[in-house]
Amino acid sequence: MRRFLFVLLACLAATLTAVAQNQPTAPAQTPTSALDEALPVRGLAIQAPSVEGLDLFLKFIEEELAPAHFNLLILRVDWNYDYKSHPELRDPNPLTETHVKRLVAACRKHGIRLAPQINLLGHQSWAKTTYSLLREYPEFDETPHVDTANYTGWPNPDGLYCKSYCPLHPDMPRVVNALIDEITTVFETDLFHAGMDEVFYIADDNCPRCAGKDPAELFAGEVNRIRNHLALTGKRLMIWGDRLLDGTLTGLGAWEASMNNTARAVDMIAKDVFVCDWHYERADLSAVYLAMKGLDVATCPWRRPELAIRQMNDMIAWRAQTTPATKSHLQGIIETVWSPAEPFLRNYYNPSTEDGVALTVRRLMEEYKKL
Ligand SMILES: [Zn+2]
Repeated sequence: MRRFLFVLLACLAATLTAVAQNQPTAPAQTPTSALDEALPVRGLAIQAPSVEGLDLFLKFIEEELAPAHFNLLILRVDWNYDYKSHPELRDPNPLTETHVKRLVAACRKHGIRLAPQINLLGHQSWAKTTYSLLREYPEFDETPHVDTANYTGWPNPDGLYCKSYCPLHPDMPRVVNALIDEITTVFETDLFHAGMDEVFYIADDNCPRCAGKDPAELFAGEVNRIRNHLALTGKRLMIWGDRLLDGTLTGLGAWEASMNNTARAVDMIAKDVFVCDWHYERADLSAVYLAMKGLDVATCPWRRPELAIRQMNDMIAWRAQTTPATKSHLQGIIETVWSPAEPFLRNYYNPSTEDGVALTVRRLMEEYKKL
């Protein structure tokens, strides 16, 4: 009997050791409730409010997001901050430190993590407007021969969707790093979202630094450069996922996936980059692909409530049926809002004008409260 007990204990010890050795890497957030277990990340990605819209936005955090158990707020700040490091880049009447601290306090009170966003690499222009970075530093432009003033809608002979900066310009990191440091410091956060979606101009034939280089290596190089800069201060990079997906193989096309040879970057970027996998027309499977590449990923819907619920349920089901290792990378869901914050809140608070985006947010809130 004693021998039997000894063998039993030895087997038990071996089993426990094996379990311990097979523990997955710690997820971004340790589950503490049934909702956290189902969906560790429940985020909203939206443009930062204007100064005039700040009070209503704080009310929305307090009375809507917090009671519905949202725990991540990605705010597209871009040039809407009173940057001290580069005042030449700020918009007129931007948010000040005092304004940001009110956002920080509201989110902290409810355990909502903040991730400020500055669109990096791509999205440096929209239609005929060139944004601050390339307006003030035109030497960073990947395609200086393309004039946004000539934009005529999509498609156009220049292939202009949005401008990109050159990831190899030697002076660019000095400017961009200062902005990243300043915005993450004022938001008191260890998360930064760099956008990096829909990068159409990369490895341009006319760029003296990038011509002939591999677009996947250039894209991954800029992701890793930003990631490494953040890591110096213990901070983490988030990006949109479209450039990591093959638009031809998947049939996902040129926007929500890449048709300009960047997709192999998925195997070149650091594994601790958090990927926001956006799909608005279908509940696609790419979050599983990204998770099985070892990347933390959240599925990102937009304005179709029924699809958002399907994406949410897919995420829950995938987490329940896969290995602990892959489950740890399937992090949850981040709803996206692409209008400025003010029109979104007008629609949200006015049922007569409520649109698909506001309806989607409300549906997700209902679901989170049920889980
Ligand atoms: Zn270049």
